[in-house]
Amino acid sequence: MQPVVQLINFSKTYQTGEVEVKAVRGVNLTVQPGEFVAIMGASGSGKSTVMNTLGCLDRPTGGQCLLDGVDTGTLDRDELADLRNQRLGFVFQGFNLLSRTSALENVELPLMYLRPNLGSRLQRERAQNSLALVGLADRADHHPNQLSGGQQQRVAIARALVNQPRLLLADEPTGNLDTQTSIEIMGIFQQLNRQGMTIIMVTHELDIANYSLRQVVMRDGRIVSDQPIKNRLDATAELLRLRQEQHAIQLAP
Ligand code: ADP
Ligand code: MG
Repeated sequence: MQPVVQLINFSKTYQTGEVEVKAVRGVNLTVQPGEFVAIMGASGSGKSTVMNTLGCLDRPTGGQCLLDGVDTGTLDRDELADLRNQRLGFVFQGFNLLSRTSALENVELPLMYLRPNLGSRLQRERAQNSLALVGLADRADHHPNQLSGGQQQRVAIARALVNQPRLLLADEPTGNLDTQTSIEIMGIFQQLNRQGMTIIMVTHELDIANYSLRQVVMRDGRIVSDQPIKNRLDATAELLRLRQEQHAIQLAP
């Protein structure tokens, strides 16, 4: 099988003035289609640098980054932008939605860069379907400030999915959300993963990593552990358990 992602001895050094920061120091990582990987590690360990490289937002200073077998180091800026737009979906901690724009229009945005263009009717239809996928079909006209944090993140996920990407990249997707909402987001990720979506997610919470299938731990720019999740959590079951607990608290004398 062709791996979705291959980092081969990947390193990244940032040069800021006189100071050199070795953010990533020789990382090897292969991710196959259908995997759900959580990248963990302390702040500054290089997680976002790895994600930004996988997301073609940044280039390696050493080694290689292959996406679907394509060495991103050989692509020019326009080719990178096309690859990013057509094959990758991004979800960030801060949602990054346009505030004066409806949920539907936010989701349509990546489609506007497609060449040839889909046309406005098909664009709208695709965005509408993507919103339905995250359970927000009835919120299409709402603006971000009329939505809860969890709903805003779901709009961001719908936007990430609208181009039917090969790979979903999420950097701390639940970092700004409460426990229940975080589990709901993990429920969407698990559902997408069961349908075949490959997901790589950064999180600093072990609870959240336990919804994935594989845990990669980074320290000081290196991978120090890479293993399957042993006690995998199921979001549907956890949400049910949480509701029963809340119900029991309400009934308590
Ligand atoms: P994490 O996401 O695990 O917190 P990062 O990948 O953001 O870690 O950062 C790894 C290291 O690289 C840190 O020491 C950070 O300060 C440094 N770094 C990240 N981005 C830049 C940049 N654009 N310029 C200089 N140093 C950077
Ligand atoms: Mg980070």
